[in-house]
Amino acid sequence: MPELPEVEITKQGIAPFMVDQSIKKIIVRNRKLRWLIPEKLESTLAGLTIKSINRRAKYIIIDCSIGWLIIHLGMSGSLKVLTSPDDSATKHDHYDLHLSSGAVIRYRDPRKFGALLWTQQSPASHRLIKHLGPEPLDPDFDGNVLHQKLRTKSSSIKLQIMNNQVVTGVGNIYANESLFHAGIRPTRRANSISRAKLHILVTAIKETLTKAIQLGGSSLRDFYLTDGSTGYFQQAYKVYGRAGEKCHVCEKPIKIITLGQRSSFYCPTCQK
Ligand SMILES: [Zn+2]
Repeated sequence: MPELPEVEITKQGIAPFMVDQSIKKIIVRNRKLRWLIPEKLESTLAGLTIKSINRRAKYIIIDCSIGWLIIHLGMSGSLKVLTSPDDSATKHDHYDLHLSSGAVIRYRDPRKFGALLWTQQSPASHRLIKHLGPEPLDPDFDGNVLHQKLRTKSSSIKLQIMNNQVVTGVGNIYANESLFHAGIRPTRRANSISRAKLHILVTAIKETLTKAIQLGGSSLRDFYLTDGSTGYFQQAYKVYGRAGEKCHVCEKPIKIITLGQRSSFYCPTCQK
């Protein structure tokens, strides 16, 4: 599943091909994503100029001068850039955005949980976005903010940092990795963790996400301009997916438990 780093890298990858371009047309092959692609989007978009591309949580927001496209990659979506139109689209390629430069942005999504929406109200007040918590990489998000949000929360810290109203875009992989780096066991009660420790956790979240974005950024060329069949970059994790393997710090075996129906990996020695 694309997590925040993949979405950020996708945004960075498509932006140079889209910003200041006008939209020639959109070809929609299948409207049935998580929500229907709006019926009149073809006529709405034709001729509009793209002013900017931003990300909020895992939404990519494209400012088209008179309104905004909101894109979500769902469980298996990816966008790739074709430098010129071609006829290689397969059944999983649901829409193509043709730009004045000749480039085409193609959306592929085998599981069809993604979204392409249009809004003319400010995206910040859109129903999918207005209730979201702080951005993890925003400088204003720190241990004090997290401490304030968790004061009354007695469920596990891992479920809390994966809750979009506490902080957005920390998915299962990065929640596991950040808790390892901060030395906090995933099952710890959220409101039992000191403010000082939460500062360390926030730093770990920011560093884990930033490192993933940098790693992905270095593979950006390959990622977009090849056939894009796999999409997401792989990286080495400290605990995620390593049940039974040795902890890189203390060499004890990494444990796995289920929390909120998601696999949680931790080192019983390094994480308290
Ligand atoms: Zn360890």
